[in-house]
Amino acid sequence: MADVLRVCALYPDLMNIYADRGNLSLLRKRCEWRGIRFELSGSGLGDALDPEAHDLFYIGGGQDRDQRLCAADLVERKREGLHAAAARGAVVLGVCGGYQLLGHSYTLGSEEIAGVGLLDVRTTREPGPRLIGNVAIEVALDGAVGERQVLAGFENHGGRTRLGAEGQPLGRVLKGWGNDGRSGQEGAISAGTIGTYLHGPLLPKNVWFADWLIARALGIAVTDLAQLDDALEQQTHMSALRAAGV
Ligand code: GLN
Repeated sequence: MADVLRVCALYPDLMNIYADRGNLSLLRKRCEWRGIRFELSGSGLGDALDPEAHDLFYIGGGQDRDQRLCAADLVERKREGLHAAAARGAVVLGVCGGYQLLGHSYTLGSEEIAGVGLLDVRTTREPGPRLIGNVAIEVALDGAVGERQVLAGFENHGGRTRLGAEGQPLGRVLKGWGNDGRSGQEGAISAGTIGTYLHGPLLPKNVWFADWLIARALGIAVTDLAQLDDALEQQTHMSALRAAGV
């Protein structure tokens, strides 16, 4: 059984909004409670990215200004490494702005910000209000315990994301806006690469999903992870669902 989870936070200072960093604290705790060592490193502007050195890459949300800065660096310095990491089975998780950057592009008026293209999605800032509120989605993930699961969180994005021909949504919107407020789709998934608009932070509100990510990154089954007492976490999950009106 793997005894260490090696996590790389991409742009931890710039891409961190609505407590997205809490996702990293949650991963750390759930690993340490099980005796799995947790190694966290950051990769910021100008840093190279070693595809072999990490099991899970994480990028949180950000303001358009910070996102623009990171996008250029991500494409120039980290694109190849991220693709290589994903190809060898590493998990890549992007939240909101991070999700947008995992797609092909984020277009703001006449400006097109290129992403790394790990997910077949494109995002556009169209006229219209920001999509804000509590959100719940139903997902069906390979290897998750139970056939269908629900993720609850909070979204706040101006961008509208649409899937390309190869794109698979992460889930179906139960409440909230999702990718574009219209399609009924939320997020995107391609093997171990996942993008979602759900802040909250996402993982403390949905610990089953954190465990799914940990197991996938370690190359083991969720059922191989030691069971934890999740009574409090379950309450948090339920109140997040209630907040979304589910
Ligand atoms: N800047 C992006 C948007 O508004 C992402 C925002 C975020 O990460 N919350 O669409």
